[in-house]
Formats: sequence, structure tokens, C-alpha cells
Amino acid sequence: MSKSVVAIAKDNDIQTMVSEVFSLLGGVEQLIKPNSTVVLKPNAGHPGAPETSINTSPAVVAAVIREVRKAKPKEIIVAEAAAIGCDTLECLAVSGIEKAAREAGADKIIDIKREKDLLTIPIKQARSAMTHIKLPRFLIEADYIINLPIFKSHASMVFTNALKNMKGVVQDRVHADMHQTVLADALLDLWTVIKADLQIADMVRPAEGFGPHTTVPVDIGCIIGGKDPVAVDATACRMVGLDIDAVEYFKAAAGRGIGVIEEDRIEVVGKQISEVYKKMWLPYLAGFNTWPEYKIYPENACSSCQSLVAFTMEKLKALGEYEKNQDAVIVLGRKANLPEGVERKNLILCGTCLAKHRDKGIWIKGCPPGEPAVGWAIVDREEQIDPPANVRERMAAEEIPWREYIERIVAEHRRQA
Ligand code: SF4
Repeated sequence: MSKSVVAIAKDNDIQTMVSEVFSLLGGVEQLIKPNSTVVLKPNAGHPGAPETSINTSPAVVAAVIREVRKAKPKEIIVAEAAAIGCDTLECLAVSGIEKAAREAGADKIIDIKREKDLLTIPIKQARSAMTHIKLPRFLIEADYIINLPIFKSHASMVFTNALKNMKGVVQDRVHADMHQTVLADALLDLWTVIKADLQIADMVRPAEGFGPHTTVPVDIGCIIGGKDPVAVDATACRMVGLDIDAVEYFKAAAGRGIGVIEEDRIEVVGKQISEVYKKMWLPYLAGFNTWPEYKIYPENACSSCQSLVAFTMEKLKALGEYEKNQDAVIVLGRKANLPEGVERKNLILCGTCLAKHRDKGIWIKGCPPGEPAVGWAIVDREEQIDPPANVRERMAAEEIPWREYIERIVAEHRRQA
């Protein structure tokens, strides 16, 4: 049985690593035919600056454009659909990807959310509740899609990398539908109708911690790549000490026969895992059980709201409010039925999709809500509709204990690693 090949490069220079990964995978001229249309799909899901590692490094995107250009394609397109509630063009600008891509010679930058020319593609033998999916014509008709994820912690999936990054090829409506079903199944369903030909994963400064709100970049200094997204993801997890058996997505992929997980069925070329291993702190393995003192109902919520609530739990600890508010019951995602027997003052309803239940609890407006609003709803037990007059002062006052708290727990995890 043939093995999935995953290339690992480690160097101080990003262009050197990108070129080496392409070379280890057979060379860019073998991978990309001349005169073809190549779509690059970075992770630019949130408006985070390059140093935050929230998004793919602009230097990695630029290096891939320069490498692909060697194969003489007709057109290189950079395309993305940011997370629900985020503006793609803003994310591409703040992340530095737009500027880097243009300077490196990208022909077009496309916000997938604004595309009007969509094709409806049926999903045969879907495992999730989705039966079809709308995708932009230009993506379906592209000769190649190159997936450019960054490896980081993720509230709904424990980590995000190659497979998860492909969720950014769909518009908000489909994105929300994917969260109304089992996300891992939906991602694998999506993969059956649109595949990336190549995954080049940014592991230069991947992010640990409570991403995407509090990413803590870790210097690993690697680029990894391969055609099989599951093998790339499994290899990335092994590089950072994440237990593959504990991550649901790998079980779902194995059940579908998509990709390769087993170490003895993956041929690692270039550097070996043992040469680049560095333990990362990926705190979402236990999901919302990480905060057993609170009742949290996250089913079918988008990752934006899930990560917001996860971040809020830790922020309550940092502010000394965690123990005091354990009577709060937190609900997120579209719910037909709310938990019964909860007093109105204790029922925290997170996000615009729960507006219909506004009279039954403490409602927080926003899709997703603004960053501090969930914590303030829990602490103040007041609806969060418009930002209060003292929003800046209160956020500034909370920032100092929060940063001190994160520094403490990062130091603790690094000591244990
Ligand atoms: S409010 Fe609802 S639809 Fe909006 S991001 Fe949160 S869970 Fe998703």
C-alpha cells in the first residue's frame, strides 16, 4: 500500500523552507502545470496582525506565490472567506496577507463571501445534515487549490490546520449550516466535493493557548506540506505532542477512509518529527469540560462563539470572577429549546441567533458578540446590547490582569512541556 508523503522543512528563512517543501514533494514544475489557474487559500479568518499568529503568516503566502510563479501559471488567486461576523477584506488587510500577496505577484485577491456566481454541488453519501453545498464557480473551475493553513489551537476542533482551513471556502450561510451539524463530518463532506491539491502548513510560529482570542505564538520554525490533508494534520499533531487518538476529527476521517493517520503509513521526508518536536499547549482537548463548575450548552454554535465563551471562562479566572458566578448557565448556538428550570438572571444567552429567547435570559447581542460582552453579561447580569459608555476604560482595566494571568499559565505549561 502506498504511503502518504509529508515533507517537513526547518530553516530560518521562510522562502528556503517553502521551496524545499515543494522540492521534497516532487518540485513545483511537476506539481503545477504551466498556464493553469492556481487558487491559494490562506487562513485569514480573523482580523489579527501577523505577530499574533491568528492567521497564516503573510511571508508564507508570499513565499508560496513566488514558488508557484516558477511553474508559469496563467493566474494566481488568493481567496478566503473569513469567520462569521468577520469582514474578509479587513482580515486580509490586517493580517498583512493582502499587501504581501500583491507584492509577491498575486493576480487577484477574492473575498469568497462577496462572490455571486455560485454553483450548487450535491454531497453524495453525506454524513452530516448537509445534502448540498454552494461554492463559487471560480473555485470549482480552478486547476489547482493550494491550502495554506496555520496550525493553532481551536475551540471546536482542538486544533485547526489543513482540513479545517478548507471551511474558509464557503460563504456565511453554509458556514453556519456546517456548525448546525457535526462539524468534523461536515468538514469531511466538504472535502468530498472540493479538495485542495496541496497543503502547505505554516508551522513557523504556530499558536497555542485560547485561540483565536488569545493566541500565544510558539517558535517552531517549520513549514510542512503534502497532498493528503489528514496525513499533514496528523504529522503536525505529532510534531507538537497532541494525542491524535483523543481528537474526534481523526476518528471521523478514519471512518470515512479519507486520508492517512497511522505513522507507519506516512512517509516523512526532509526533517524527521523527532528533529523538530516541540510540545505545544492546546487546551481545548477536554472541550467545555475544562470548566466543570459551569453549565455550558455549546451544541451547534459557531467556533467564533465557542472560542469567545472559552476565552471568557479563563478571563473570569484572571479577574477573580470565576468562583463568584458559577450559578450562570451559558447557552450559545441556535437552540430550539433552552435548558429548563434556570432563573432568568442566571441564563446567559450568547449571540444574535438566540435573540428569539431574549425575554428568558440575559441576552448578548452580536454575531458573534463583541469580545468582552459575554464576561460582562455574566458578571453584571445585564443584557449587552450596545457597548457601555466606559467600554474602553473597562477593557483597559481588565487587560492588565488578563495578560499577567496568561503569562503565568504559559510559563507553567512551558515548564511542564
Ligand atoms: S451568534 Fe450564533 S450564528 Fe452568530 S457566531 Fe454565534 S453561534 Fe454563530
